[in-house]
Amino acid sequence: MLSYRHGFHAGNFADVLKHLVQIQILEYLKKKDAPFYYHDTHAGSGLYAIADPYMQKNQEYQSGIERIWSAEPLAPLLNDYLAFIRMLNPEGKLAYYPGSPEVASRLVRDQDRIFLGERHTTDFTNLSEQYGRQNGIHCELIDAWDGLKAKLPPIERRGLILIDPSYEIKADYTQIPRVVQDALLRFSNGIFAIWYPVIDTYVSDKLVQKLGRLTANDILHLQLDLGRDRSAPGMHACGMVIINPPYTLADSMKETMPELFGLLAESRRGFYKVESLK
Ligand code: SAM
Repeated sequence: MLSYRHGFHAGNFADVLKHLVQIQILEYLKKKDAPFYYHDTHAGSGLYAIADPYMQKNQEYQSGIERIWSAEPLAPLLNDYLAFIRMLNPEGKLAYYPGSPEVASRLVRDQDRIFLGERHTTDFTNLSEQYGRQNGIHCELIDAWDGLKAKLPPIERRGLILIDPSYEIKADYTQIPRVVQDALLRFSNGIFAIWYPVIDTYVSDKLVQKLGRLTANDILHLQLDLGRDRSAPGMHACGMVIINPPYTLADSMKETMPELFGLLAESRRGFYKVESLK
């Protein structure tokens, strides 16, 4: 039984980091005309209305997208991200925040292909209604790990696999390195972007350590800690591990993270990381 609903969290600081990175990787893949494959293991609902009661319950978007929405940043990646969010909200008022499926569906080209996997029936119904009839997009009610086994390697032989679990099941932390290692055996040049929350630092550090040992030439690690009280319950930081990242991503993130951190940080205890795990 899944109780996590992304609508409670959409647009928070973790989504900002995740979708900023997702946009950059998709833009990088588009630099070649050859088609690519985008696979979302945990797709969620796709698009979130700020006025929705789920969004209004904890208003997490207020310490994420709302904080940076009207900034005029210098870092090009932050500009690209904000331009995307503003394009979705043409009237100049923050009314919608995209999920990863919306980001992908807006950025891919006719020749590219999208797979959206989701196991929650309500989220899956939303996904199918929004994207199920669009060319090149396939939605499936499927377990994330079964989806990876069934769909990799893609015929395009290039692409992005976004792994964005809710970590409701503690086993996700230990299972992910094994699942990704297996996926890499079948799709060794795929770009794998794995998002994780920092709730228990020991557990998330272990996950990062294990992902860093996987067989790949290049693995990039990003972490964003806003300086929240670590003894309080809940997520106080988040990160991403990107396997086979675009060669430009580490330098671009080194340029972007100080500015992103400056806009989002809540106390002096915060910090960010952009490091290679290889
Ligand atoms: N990627 C989405 C985005 O950025 O907008 C958000 C995804 S949310 C963090 C995680 C989603 O995974 C939830 O919608 C949840 O229902 C779904 N989920 C949880 N366990 C799953 C599993 N084993 N297989 C597939 N989906 C799962």
